[in-house]
Amino acid sequence: MSTLKEKVILITGASRGIGAEIALKLAGAGAKVIVNYAGSKEAADKTVAKIIEAGGEAIALQADVSNSEAVKKMFDVIIEHFGKIDVLVNNAGIMITKLIKDTTDEEFSRQFDTNVRGTFNTMREAATRLADNGSIINFSTSVNRIMLPGYGTYVATKAAVEQLTRVFSKEVGSRGINVNSVSPGPTNTELFTNGKSEEVISRLASLSPFNRIGEPEDISEIVLFLASDAAKWINAQNIGVNGGMA
Ligand code: NDP
Repeated sequence: MSTLKEKVILITGASRGIGAEIALKLAGAGAKVIVNYAGSKEAADKTVAKIIEAGGEAIALQADVSNSEAVKKMFDVIIEHFGKIDVLVNNAGIMITKLIKDTTDEEFSRQFDTNVRGTFNTMREAATRLADNGSIINFSTSVNRIMLPGYGTYVATKAAVEQLTRVFSKEVGSRGINVNSVSPGPTNTELFTNGKSEEVISRLASLSPFNRIGEPEDISEIVLFLASDAAKWINAQNIGVNGGMA
């Protein structure tokens, strides 16, 4: 297994879902982990408690990633506490599925603010404050590849994340930092299951030849690899983690 010993890793949106699983996995591999969250303090504290119980090191930090001042402060606190940040996992995200004609201005802005501005805000801090030879892992989606009605605004935000990833890799590469994105397929979290019937979930599961949706652990294994030095030569890529769905 890859070791992350001595690495300090910030995972945005790690109170629940995929982010919480990533925090547990990376801490299990020896990383010191920062569990960022926006509103779910109890869930974030629970993730941290699980890590500590298993012998790992973690702290929870509240910061809305769409707020640049809050992100700046979060970087200040982490660097003061741990002395550095080696890896940034930009997992925080929201999804509102609605036809374009039904999407409100507020829903459009909220998705762009969290998914795009949030990723932008943390990368802007990372440009000068992530340690040399660090790694950044951003979150896109495999829905970008299959053009489902109702996902227009969401995939627009994730397409923007993919492009920010490619350009940013060219801006920080001279410091040895690699920047990639992962594109999960449907994964068993609230973000995906919320409001979907069993029938819709099995229809989406059948898009993978394995005929199932992903579990958070399917994604965290790949993030573990990308956060390790073994993945250093992977740079400026978007990696589908979707069981062959697209
Ligand atoms: P969940 O809804 O289960 O969890 C989302 C996490 O993001 C929570 O910890 C939440 O924290 C946090 N979050 C939301 N808004 C903010 C914010 N403004 N600032 C900081 N944290 C925030 O989502 P998933 O685990 O399913 O998704 C994780 C990532 O994976 C997202 O980027 C999503 O787009 C992507 N993805 C998910 C897929 C899926 O099928 N599940 C498929 C493809 C991509 P809090 O509760 O404290 O607000």
